[in-house]
This record gives sequence, C-alpha cells and structure tokens, in this order.
Amino acid sequence: MDQQMNLNIGLDKTSPISCNKCGSQVFQEGVLLRKASRLLTGTAQDALIPIQVFACMSCGNVNEEFLPLQMRQQATPKEETIEPEVEEENKGGKIITF
Ligand SMILES: [Zn+2]
Repeated sequence: MDQQMNLNIGLDKTSPISCNKCGSQVFQEGVLLRKASRLLTGTAQDALIPIQVFACMSCGNVNEEFLPLQMRQQATPKEETIEPEVEEENKGGKIITF
C-alpha cells in the first residue's frame, strides 16, 4: 500500500463509491472510537482508539468497506475470531483453608 499515491490516474479508470443505504456519493470524514480496557493495555485508564472512517453525508451510514476487517459483520461468517477466555485469577478471592 503506497502512502502517497500519484494521482495521475485518469478518473475514468476509477469507480465511484456510493452509500449502501441511500446511494449518495458524498461522504464526510468521521471517527469511530473503540475503547480498550485498561486491563488489556495495562495503563491506568481505558484507552480510546480512533478509527477514521467515511460516513455518508446524507444519511450518516458508514459502508462496511470503510470499516476495518475485524469490525465488518459480513466478513467470513464461519471463521469467527476465537477470543481466548481470560481467566481472572484473583476473582472473588476464594480462600480454602484446611
Ligand atoms: Zn447514505
């Protein structure tokens, strides 16, 4: 993926993207925020992770193709990411005395 693409491409070689919901071709930038638990990041506070997306200017819809793969709902329905279950060791503090 080139960071800076030369825009010497003829626009006739490009294809328009339109909103999946209303068909509008005008988008505006938006930011999705994901929260990462401080338990995961190891920081004092939960972390916010901004994800830049484009939203339809007319209806606000965000096409799935703009979303990161992991956030697409239609992406590979059979291969669900297996989240390792985190066992909380110090939960509840069951103390067994003999
Ligand atoms: Zn729309």
